[in-house]
Amino acid sequence: MKLTIIGCLGGYPANGKATSCFLLSSHNFNLLIDCGSGALLALQKVISPLQLDAVVLTHFHADHIADVGVLQHFWQLAPGDKKVPWLPIYASNHDIENFNKLDWPYSTRKQALNFSKPMEIGPFTLSFFKTKHPVETYAVRIKETGNQNELVYTADTTIVSGLNEFIDGAHTVLTDTNFFANQKGPRWHLTTTETTDLANNTHVKQVILTHIPPFGDLDKLKYEVASKLMPNIKLDVADEGAIYEL
Ligand SMILES: [Zn+2]
Repeated sequence: MKLTIIGCLGGYPANGKATSCFLLSSHNFNLLIDCGSGALLALQKVISPLQLDAVVLTHFHADHIADVGVLQHFWQLAPGDKKVPWLPIYASNHDIENFNKLDWPYSTRKQALNFSKPMEIGPFTLSFFKTKHPVETYAVRIKETGNQNELVYTADTTIVSGLNEFIDGAHTVLTDTNFFANQKGPRWHLTTTETTDLANNTHVKQVILTHIPPFGDLDKLKYEVASKLMPNIKLDVADEGAIYEL
């Protein structure tokens, strides 16, 4: 599967870069994970949004869903051939008000995530883990048919029991690393130190820092993770347009 970083920032877009959004492609199937602020512009540099097959949303915070509305308008109004007659948008149906907004005429249809067993979406099998965050949020583990290299995206979370087990053995983990090691006050995201511990304890081969702060020194962010990371684990800071083959 091919992972393309569309949006890498947490909180708000800055310096021309979008907030959380990732494109997973396999066998001509295009799955978008989250659709943050600025994502629709960044996505159009990679593919036409009409070529999406499905969207999965991890939670209803603005930096993960801000561009869902304009994606719906794009699907309703933009000229061009649609890959599928309507675009399914998967999310938890527990927040009825936000879930119902995923239906849009001639455009998108809401689809409830299933948390009781893995879900098949195109060539991908997705399983979910409820994280610890101010609103209901799910990490997602993605397996591609016939591929041993699995991907986990932590979505937004602070340290929570069970997260290590959920990630364990994946090839690559995209971690919410919103905070530097010295972050004070309430923590609803991982710090660099926590990301390092997570990667070191879950047998992953690669960690990609996402939901990165829109301010501050990213070299320092990377260094803080790298300083105690096991040397066999590859480390990257997510950046728009970066492509990973798993
Ligand atoms: Zn959030």
